[in-house]
Amino acid sequence: LTKAGILACDVAIIGAGTAGLAAREAAEAAGSRVLLIDNGPGGTTCARVGCMPSKLLIAAGNAAQAMREGEAFGIEGGVARIDGPKVMERVRRERDRFVEGVMKKLRGFDPPTMRQATARFAAPGRLELDDGTTVEAKAIVIATGAASAIPKELATVKDRILTNETVFELEDIPQNLAVIGAGPLGLELAQAFARLGARVTVFNDTDSIGGLHDPEITAIARERFATELSFVLAIKLKDATPEANGIRLCWSDKNGADGDGVFSHVLAAAGRPPNLTSLNLKASGLALDGHGVPLFDPATARCGDSAVFIAGDARHDRSVLHEASAAGRLAGTNAACYPKLKSQPLGTALAITFTEPNIAAIGLTGRHLPKDCLTGTVRYNDQGRAKVENIPDGLLKVYAEVGSGRLLGAELACPAGEYLAHLLAWGIAAGWTVHDMLAKPFYHPTFEEGLRTALRDLCRQLQEEPREDFAFGAGC
Ligand SMILES: Cc1cc2nc3c(=O)[nH]c(=O)nc-3n(C[C@H](O)[C@H](O)[C@H](O)COP(=O)(O)OP(=O)(O)OC[C@H]3O[C@@H](n4cnc5c(N)ncnc54)[C@H](O)[C@@H]3O)c2cc1C
Repeated sequence: LTKAGILACDVAIIGAGTAGLAAREAAEAAGSRVLLIDNGPGGTTCARVGCMPSKLLIAAGNAAQAMREGEAFGIEGGVARIDGPKVMERVRRERDRFVEGVMKKLRGFDPPTMRQATARFAAPGRLELDDGTTVEAKAIVIATGAASAIPKELATVKDRILTNETVFELEDIPQNLAVIGAGPLGLELAQAFARLGARVTVFNDTDSIGGLHDPEITAIARERFATELSFVLAIKLKDATPEANGIRLCWSDKNGADGDGVFSHVLAAAGRPPNLTSLNLKASGLALDGHGVPLFDPATARCGDSAVFIAGDARHDRSVLHEASAAGRLAGTNAACYPKLKSQPLGTALAITFTEPNIAAIGLTGRHLPKDCLTGTVRYNDQGRAKVENIPDGLLKVYAEVGSGRLLGAELACPAGEYLAHLLAWGIAAGWTVHDMLAKPFYHPTFEEGLRTALRDLCRQLQEEPREDFAFGAGC
């Protein structure tokens, strides 16, 4: 504390989530006096209400589905009987272990270096906390994360709408669930609840699902998911009204035709905008983009030419855990060493949706791809391992540069997609060409052999002299 009662530090970090904790560790390692400020219950979004409880729910759903699918292999166990309260209880019990791991870490921090409060800018370099403290910092890291938005059409019933912050507290599996939003988060939870016995309807304002860009992959994915979920796509929600047995949703489709239905539960999964409103950014002196996010340089995490850095979901860009962690470390280091800045270009994009089939986008996809790039394709309906496992379909597309054959990106909705996505991300990050990847061993019989088929497809399009292919000598 200074004489004027101001708390002075080198680096003030707002938010003790994945990004903020990584920033703290990096700033301390660089020798800074750090103050970490957080207004939540602690434990991070990932562990408490995000990645981990959602994966626990998905694992339960997949276990039920595996029982149902046993018949195809001659295993007769009957239909899975699902004990909803037990399923939800396990989700919370295991979730609590992950949360406790983080809480233990927080408890280990020296108390004066941590504040439980909401921070807002009072002036550039100065924060006001809602416990009355004023903080002056040489550098500030914004790591405030994001929170679920409830669409305005649901305003009348907003207290009854589930979000990722409340859905894991359900005592039982909902009977008849509407999921608003067919993005990765909505689709993961929709399929998991459907596999656990809920009747699930997924609403979306476009006909895209799972964040996919490629229309062919989208169509195959939609067809696969439609065996478990109902889709109401390309609609506009009109309003919602409370009913004795749930919530009535009204919508209209693109031709103006109206629809409505009553659902026991409604889950909002229509986007998670950054938590920036409480920060009073107008006092920060930072320039903001159209969404109210400070303009920043991804290579340094620095906002404009200020001593403020931003990391994690607060950036509204690549809202996934490994990016939050990497950007947090970078922001922490640069805040500690300011004005000396380390520059670290963004890595290869990698986003995975843990549905079955897995969905993933790697490197460049959609409108970010050059118009003239090459596309190698494999369908998993006729792939050896997919047949062995009785996994009926899926599509993988790999994109490569014309001429050089350098791998640019990939998109997929196929079995074992999470593993294929990693291989592709690592190959793209290493600057591999199609030939570099084809020269690696592919074990038999695996889903990775499907990836090799897509690479060979690219190889043919490159119209080069055939080169060594690990498996077949001259395999192009
Ligand atoms: C349901 C769900 C599933 C997900 N699944 C995956 C997955 O499988 N894989 C993956 O990579 N990513 C996944 N994600 C995304 C991942 O969880 C996030 O990218 C990551 O947790 C973001 O971390 P963060 O540090 O930016 O934010 P957070 O962990 O949310 O931390 C932000 C902190 O800032 C605090 N805060 C906010 N405003 C203030 C303020 N003014 N003053 C003080 N404190 C403040 C908050 O209380 C909070 O503690 C999922 C997300 C959700 C919601």
